[in-house]
Amino acid sequence: MTSRANAEERVGHLPSVPYVDGRWHEPAGAPTIDVVDPVTERSLATVTEADADAVDRAVAAARRSLDGEWGRMDGATRGQLLFDLAQRIEDRAEEFADLESLEVGKPGIEPRVIDLPQAVGAFRHYAGWADKLAGHAIPTPGYAGRPTHSYTIREPVGVVAAITPWNSPTMIASWKLAPALAAGCAVVLKPPEDAPLTSLLLAALAEEAGFPAGALNVVPGRGETTGRALVEHRGTDKISFTGSPETGRFVATTAAQRFLPVTLELGGKSPQVVFADADLDAAAQGVALGVFANQGEVCAAGSRILVERAVHDEFVERLAARAADVVVGDPFDAGTTMGALINARQRDRVLRYVEAGHREGARLVAGGGRPDRSGYFVEPTLFADASTTMTIAREEIFGPVGTIIGFEGDDEAVALANDTPYGLAATVWTRDLTRAHTLARRLRAGAVAVNGWSPLDPRLPWGGSGLSGQGRELGWAGIEATTTLKTVTVVL
Ligand code: NAD
Repeated sequence: MTSRANAEERVGHLPSVPYVDGRWHEPAGAPTIDVVDPVTERSLATVTEADADAVDRAVAAARRSLDGEWGRMDGATRGQLLFDLAQRIEDRAEEFADLESLEVGKPGIEPRVIDLPQAVGAFRHYAGWADKLAGHAIPTPGYAGRPTHSYTIREPVGVVAAITPWNSPTMIASWKLAPALAAGCAVVLKPPEDAPLTSLLLAALAEEAGFPAGALNVVPGRGETTGRALVEHRGTDKISFTGSPETGRFVATTAAQRFLPVTLELGGKSPQVVFADADLDAAAQGVALGVFANQGEVCAAGSRILVERAVHDEFVERLAARAADVVVGDPFDAGTTMGALINARQRDRVLRYVEAGHREGARLVAGGGRPDRSGYFVEPTLFADASTTMTIAREEIFGPVGTIIGFEGDDEAVALANDTPYGLAATVWTRDLTRAHTLARRLRAGAVAVNGWSPLDPRLPWGGSGLSGQGRELGWAGIEATTTLKTVTVVL
């Protein structure tokens, strides 16, 4: 792993201005964003915000690219560009991983085993689709007594506005860019203001790979300014958003004015259901990963831990021991397994939930405080003896806080698991095959994992329902979300 000093030194060589129409574009007089390292609380970089004019140029450039070289490019050539970009990301995976540690605060191991392999995998997966986006011929009885030849053409949906959150900025950007570019869409990506650097590096690599000007534009900036300008822009054809339900609601209602298709990946309060017949060792390890990975700043975090009463006390002990084993510290220290939260606001929000847990009568069994050091850290925290009416069991915390609730039998497990306005992911721990498949059907979630945490692979569709959003990314669903079908009928 790189040293912190080397990683910080490299930040100075990164682009720090919007990438629009194939050029690094410095809007005159535009405000800047200070990108702060959540571990040192020091400024890492200053990035120029894309103002409304820059967003407008980016959308116009995207449209021109569709009318020009990018729009005319065949699928096989697009696929080659995507393979090339995937290789460039893989070649610089260490740099991306260090950036994720610097700007997000995640321990070095995580981007190396999750974010970067997932990002590279997404580009490779969709590179393979780019030359296979065929329509098909559909037989019909004909037209006015004459035979017809009817067929469909799968076309790119057009200009895609993509907006991403800070928790996994490289991976989530890749989930949006790879299918859209494979489908032949042009993209305007608005990365998160807290962590824009990896998206700017992605743009630099796309430029090196030879994507035509305007096919990919990256417009860093705040949500209320750059994000809003992009969502309200009338030149886009689709919005793909990952972030909070509040912003998702704004995106959906604004898009609805123009009947624009949207994909919304919002938050979650995902259940992890542990049955007495489970391999409790494996379950404790998996459940701890589900609640503490990436400091709990994961949309699919398994933060509601439902445990069958027969093993409840034993499992709580095992899980508390796992929490005690978590090493909270600098992401650049080799032994660290949990880093810092993204900013002081998020840390304070998480600590307010810890207070609510105490106030509402849950029993603290691990953590609950802040380590005595600089940085936006919160200890891995677990509450037991909770009920579904408690705030910590209902609301997304987006921090390392797990809430443990006891249950008796399959029906109560399902009732508790589904008692949430979210519907993103769920995990079941059991050795009983029939129970595993039965619960997979009964749980209201976009993705169910059995004896593991949260399926993550570019081939597998990903998304939720209710407060967790709508639509699916990844797999073939990612292509459907970025294309539209045209029907052609020729009367013969
Ligand atoms: P957020 O909604 O505040 O921000 C997400 C993105 O939207 C950022 O780029 C932000 O700048 C932008 N934004 C904010 N206000 C905007 C506006 N008015 N118009 C346009 N864009 C705007 O969310 P966050 O705090 O960055 O991320 C945390 C949330 O994201 C959590 O609730 C989490 O569950 C969710 N999330 C979901 C997934 C998923 O796949 N379902 C993945 C990661 C995060």
